Amino acid sequence: MSPRFRHFRTLHLLILSLGLLSFTSCDRIKTKVKSLANELKNPVPAKKPLTSAEEEAMNKTLDDPKIFDPNAPHPKAAATAEETPDPSEPAVEVNKSASVAILGYHDFRDRGGSPMLIAEPKFRQQMEAIRDSKIPVVALSDMLAWKRGEKNIPEECIVITMDDGWEGVYQYAYPILKEMGFPFTVYLYKKYVNIGGRSMKWEQIKEMMEHGCEVASHTVSHEMLTKKGTRTDAEYQLWLLNELKDSKEFLEQHLGKPVLSIAYPYGNHNEMIEQLAQQVGYQAGVTVANNKVAWDTPNAKLGRYIIHGEQDSNFRLATSFHSRGELGNAKSIAVDAKDDKGEQLVQLSPAPNSTITDRRPVIEANLLRLGSIVPESLRLRVGGYGMVPAEFDPKTFVLRYQLPSKLRRDECNVTLLFKRNIETPEEMVTWRFKVDLQAAYLPQVAEGGAPAPSKEMGEERKTVGDKK
Ligand SMILES: [Zn+2]
Repeated sequence: MSPRFRHFRTLHLLILSLGLLSFTSCDRIKTKVKSLANELKNPVPAKKPLTSAEEEAMNKTLDDPKIFDPNAPHPKAAATAEETPDPSEPAVEVNKSASVAILGYHDFRDRGGSPMLIAEPKFRQQMEAIRDSKIPVVALSDMLAWKRGEKNIPEECIVITMDDGWEGVYQYAYPILKEMGFPFTVYLYKKYVNIGGRSMKWEQIKEMMEHGCEVASHTVSHEMLTKKGTRTDAEYQLWLLNELKDSKEFLEQHLGKPVLSIAYPYGNHNEMIEQLAQQVGYQAGVTVANNKVAWDTPNAKLGRYIIHGEQDSNFRLATSFHSRGELGNAKSIAVDAKDDKGEQLVQLSPAPNSTITDRRPVIEANLLRLGSIVPESLRLRVGGYGMVPAEFDPKTFVLRYQLPSKLRRDECNVTLLFKRNIETPEEMVTWRFKVDLQAAYLPQVAEGGAPAPSKEMGEERKTVGDKK
């Protein structure tokens, strides 16, 4: 499967339902599609007749030969065809431990606040906190490029998004974001673009696009996508298709930029909607679930932290990364950072992103290549244990810590903070490794037995095991 759609299970539901192609990979879907096709052949009278506008929209969609053409270029591919790398070139070594917090805002005013409305001074305060924390803000498109394996993003970073297209975005948020140099994405829905009142105008949107703003879809009507209402199955499918596809094309036609993602209204979505979204060319869908985006988070459901105007709790949650607590100041260095000679700057064990079987590993960092270190500045933090008393050998520059008990989770995050010199800023390296909990139940590593040999620590691990 193409890495672009690694997280999507391609489904030709629509193609099939319209009888334009005739293959599928899933029986459950086959059955569903058959019933849909029958319904289209012998339509059940709709409880609520379609309005002529809806009908027109459907017909327009169905008349478009491109949507069902499997050879139609992917919008992203088309937009960047000239910069597509030679496939023989090696891909970027992607940082799979990066973590992204997507913030979701709505409307802005000069003062006051409500769940969906934030006062300008409060927004400024939040953006200044991000700037001062040195947590980088990246464009949503960069995050998607990272998910495609095409580029790296910082170990911990933030993406800023705003839904609905309120003029308050242009009036209050945009000047602050421009001042900070933060990229951001606005999710617009077709029925609320450039229609007067408090909706944003095309000129305002285009001006923001000159200064770090990306535009993405929030559907046509902003209705809940999972709500079928009185529509028949076939009508519902076509309505959904229109909500997803027409909104995308509308923005692309007016703004001349590919629309890569969709924000499901009210965060409401299901597997069928996710697949349909992928089918019409979206690379990602964002929700309102308060969680960070990791390398393996499915693209169709990227969590966002919705920031409320009258309380900070979601903002604090979003900007807390495992390595630093709330908005720390340490400068992050990548786990695979190299020195001038191309040598790995910091050697870590268990190796970043590896899977170990010993649930009581020694955590080790060889800092020799850093050149100098202030021993008192060394702080090691292990997920589940907090700050731990690691031992540092000033002769070898090796920091070691034997976990006092078995790891109980299948993943462990480790952060090492240090200063190379008293006057230089604090730096940190963060990594995670996985723990094969199942291995604990295999005979050779049963309670009291000898630990299984491990790929990561090899002979050394055995020695450590013997000591306990
Ligand atoms: Zn909305």
